[in-house]
Amino acid sequence: MAPLVPLRVRGPARGDEASAVVPRGGVLEVGVVLTHACNLACVYCYTGDKKRVRMSEAVADAALDFAFRTAAARGSRLQLGFFGGEPLLERTLLLDLAARARARAEADAIGLTLQVTTNGTLLTPTLVEQLGALQVHVALSIDGTQAQHEAGRPLAGGGSSWEATRAGLDALVAARDRFPFDVIAVIDPCNVAGLADGVLELVDAGVESLTLNMNWGARWDDAAWSQLEDQLERVAAVFLAALRDGRWIRIQPLESALRSQLERGEVVTAGCSPAGRRLAVAPSGRLYACARAVGEDDGRASIGHVDHGVVVTPADPAHGCSCANVEETGDAAIAGQTRIRHDRALASITGRLAVRLGKEFAHISVIEQRPTPSP
Ligand code: SF4
Repeated sequence: MAPLVPLRVRGPARGDEASAVVPRGGVLEVGVVLTHACNLACVYCYTGDKKRVRMSEAVADAALDFAFRTAAARGSRLQLGFFGGEPLLERTLLLDLAARARARAEADAIGLTLQVTTNGTLLTPTLVEQLGALQVHVALSIDGTQAQHEAGRPLAGGGSSWEATRAGLDALVAARDRFPFDVIAVIDPCNVAGLADGVLELVDAGVESLTLNMNWGARWDDAAWSQLEDQLERVAAVFLAALRDGRWIRIQPLESALRSQLERGEVVTAGCSPAGRRLAVAPSGRLYACARAVGEDDGRASIGHVDHGVVVTPADPAHGCSCANVEETGDAAIAGQTRIRHDRALASITGRLAVRLGKEFAHISVIEQRPTPSP
């Protein structure tokens, strides 16, 4: 693996940390990793060892202050996302931070969006109400059908997480008119054969916003590739059928590709802008370019600390996501064959979809793109 950016120098004085990092205006996304612990053991997890290390109250305070000061310094809106491990293992801390963030946003007159990315197993109707009352947007990870989900998302220690995750999804669906939510499904060779069936099942269950996250680091052989291309084509058909039925569902990355076609006449995959519009705070207080880069928080990819700010600015990859590039090629700046082949297939499928949509395509309303959370 190519070296990322070791933390080896002290940064600027407190308060100056964001000046050279985050572009003015726009949205600053700060991920707060509340714990390394998780009650699942997903086969494609990239968050490293599930050690029982949680964020202390002191680091949480510093993280909140850092996020607001950085957003204020740059004149940005703030999007605060809670991650893990499984962040709902720390729901008391999460709800407390969310409440304090709401109060701080009002006092500082800073626009604020709150989000949590969860495996859903600990979600209850009560917790959905508590999160909703604080306007914490939920992104729940579920991989489609029961067979797909069980192929990749066992409980830590063994056994199925399906019933618990579906109960969490049902709680979200029951409250969706008041609290819209997102679903994340990870595409891996172990579940790709059922991708379109899984998307259809989720849509039928009441999911209206779905992100399909590729496991770039998996071994995608020719058979798996062939299945992926076929399944993505069928996902596009599910999207089109829903649209014809008068139902607008969001399926990423299809929606972004359509938007790119609409605005630029071609599908262009942007870089992920590490540390530009995204930052993350680990339980230790170390800063990373995004929540996905935290991993085991061993410091190798760290770019600073909440106590003294960002000290190293990683380069934006020309193509794809830095973390995904590292997983596939070992170099944050270089996208691998899996990424490139996927993006070409997506462009081709989107082009055909655009043709089939015809004039409707020009009228599609594409809402502001949200970041893709970790699985
Ligand atoms: S992918 Fe998420 S839910 Fe699965 S083991 Fe890793 S942290 Fe837990």
